[in-house]
Formats: sequence, structure tokens, C-alpha cells
Amino acid sequence: MSRRRLAAAVAGVWLVAGSVALAAPLPFPVTEVASGIFVRQGVHQDATAENDDAIANIGFIVGLDAVAVVDPGGSLDDGERLRATVQAKTDRPIRYVVMTHAHPDHIFGGIAFMADHPVFVGHARLAGVLIDRGEYYRKRLVDLLGRDRAGDYEMPTLLVTDTAALDLGGRVLELQAHGAAHTDNDLTILDRQTGTLWAADLLFVDRVPAIDGSLAGWLKELAALKALPATRAVPGHGPPVVPWPAGAADEERYLTVLATEIRALLAKGGDIETAVEQVGLGERGKWQLFDEYNGRNVTAAFKELEWD
Ligand SMILES: [Zn+2]
Repeated sequence: MSRRRLAAAVAGVWLVAGSVALAAPLPFPVTEVASGIFVRQGVHQDATAENDDAIANIGFIVGLDAVAVVDPGGSLDDGERLRATVQAKTDRPIRYVVMTHAHPDHIFGGIAFMADHPVFVGHARLAGVLIDRGEYYRKRLVDLLGRDRAGDYEMPTLLVTDTAALDLGGRVLELQAHGAAHTDNDLTILDRQTGTLWAADLLFVDRVPAIDGSLAGWLKELAALKALPATRAVPGHGPPVVPWPAGAADEERYLTVLATEIRALLAKGGDIETAVEQVGLGERGKWQLFDEYNGRNVTAAFKELEWD
């Protein structure tokens, strides 16, 4: 073979190798927050074409026999990269995909796990919420990312009405379905053997909490979570892990400020416009995305609390 043809052949191999490398989803960095519990930290942004909706903390828990994915990601790319990350860390099969709630940044990577034939796990109310809102979530994500990249959710096949246990072999995850709080379909996971609570969006750290369920309910659920035998928690948004229950302090303060200030305003006969202008302003500067969400939170909480 001439030197030139050899060079061309080598270049061809390079191109093939290059295109294969581009096509295969790349694992992303994860933090092992406790033995066998891996978390990918999301960015503190809303979904955009640039971030592929990889904005939530997602990850997986490895047992002796099987793996549970906890939130399959915010888009097809996010889900495929999570799946590649699982495969890079362990050869055990993905038996469960837990969906902590209906928000798209947590579940639109679900379709990436179809080939694993896992049990898709969710709160008993999750299926109904997805029937109501799923099409709207899909359209919004398709508008941002395009149809090919938006991904899709899977309907839950195991519904949790109160509690459930997932046995991964040598490790049993305790799931709990909550009353209305961040949403009306929040699910948390306790790994008792490492004292780790996967709080998902019942815990926001650094990024301002978003109320899509009940302010009073969230404070109640948070108080119950703080009493669990856990020394660390995985927030749905924030660092991969925080000490528990100390890591709940900022969120509890923010939610309490909203409740206290709205109740004070209601006692004076104040209206919702005044509430949106005034309530929670002492918290500005303490949270990322405060201006994007505080007004919405106050609106939702005012409507809830005015009927107390
Ligand atoms: Zn959420």
C-alpha cells in the first residue's frame, strides 16, 4: 500500500472511530454521595436548547443484584447520558426507574431506559397528572429542544400510594408517597443502611423552591422528613448532597417567611397584587432564580392560604 493510500485508510478509520464516539452517549460526572449512591448535579437554570434540560439532580443507586435509577433525566440526551453513566459504573441491570414527581426536568429522559425493561415507579397520583399535563410538558420541551431531542416520559407501572420497598439485593430502598407539597405527587427514597434520604424536589438548596402543590403541606412534609433516620440528603436542585436535617434550614426559612408574611397581609385585608409586590423580598439575594419564581410562589400560596 502506498504511503498516501495508507494515510487515507488511517484517516478513514479515524473518521469511523470519530463518528462512533460522537453517536454513543457520553457518561457524565457523578458524585458518589454514599456507598453505591451516585448523583449528577443539575445546573441552576431553566430548560434551554443549550443545557438539554439537564437542570435537576438525577442519579442511581446500586445494589448487589440490580440498579435503581432515580429520575431518568430532563431530555433524551440527559437520559441517555445517565444510562451510559450507570453502565460505566456497574454491569448490574437497571431494574427500576423511580420518577420522584411529574416535572419534565426529572422524567423526560425516561424513554432512554426502554431497552432495560425496568419497572417505572411513581406516586399513585403521577399517572393522572401525566395524563392531564404530559402533552403540555412535551410540547413545551419540543419547542425548546426540537422533537428529536426532547425525549419522553414513561407511564409508571408501579404506583406507590403510601410506602413501598424496592429490593436491589443487599439493599432495600424505602419509598414514601407524600401529601401535596412541592407537587401533589412527590416521592422520596430512604436508604436506611447509609442514612441517605433522596429528597428530590421536596428539598431545594441554593435554587429558590418552586411551589406547585401546597405551601402548608410542604412545611408539614418537611417536618416529617427531618425526623427520618438520615444524616445526609440529596436535593432535587442544589449540591449533590447536604447534611441532614441541617440542609433543610434555608428552604424551611423561605417557606415559613412566605406563610408568615402572607398570613399577616391577609389579616390586614391585603390583596394578591400587594402580596406579589411585597412578600418574601427579604429572601432576594439568598437564592438563585429568585425573581423567576418568587412571584409565582406568592400567587400560589396566597390562593391557598386565603381559604384558611
Ligand atoms: Zn419539580
